[in-house]
Amino acid sequence: MKVLKLDHIGIAVKNIDEAKKIYHDILGLPHVKNETVEEQKVTTGFFPVGDTEVELLESTAPDGPVAKFIEKKGEGVQHIAFQVENIEEALEELKAKGIKLIDEQPRVGAGGKKIAFLHPKSTYGVLVELCQEV
Ligand code: ZN
Repeated sequence: MKVLKLDHIGIAVKNIDEAKKIYHDILGLPHVKNETVEEQKVTTGFFPVGDTEVELLESTAPDGPVAKFIEKKGEGVQHIAFQVENIEEALEELKAKGIKLIDEQPRVGAGGKKIAFLHPKSTYGVLVELCQEV
């Protein structure tokens, strides 16, 4: 498998508009857009920086994964995402090497990208997302 770059860092926040006051108003990162992915009960705000992005994540429902994360751990870094050349191939290879996967098959994430999560137990406590531009 080939990892192309650190695609983004996902930060769980209670309110994107509030968090934007830091990441955009103070740190000066451009705020490109917000996008809701209903299936994952999340709204994401994209803040590009260099060749990567900060992705703020706000839950759209109290039972969504981001809401649950905040309930357990508080606001903060929720996942990091690596862009890969071929996500299906990467998942197959990782599975064969004994890496625990959350998603065996890619699903559609924000921006229409193909995404899949690896289990934090296999990646030293960090939720890792693989993504591929389509
Ligand atoms: Zn992500």
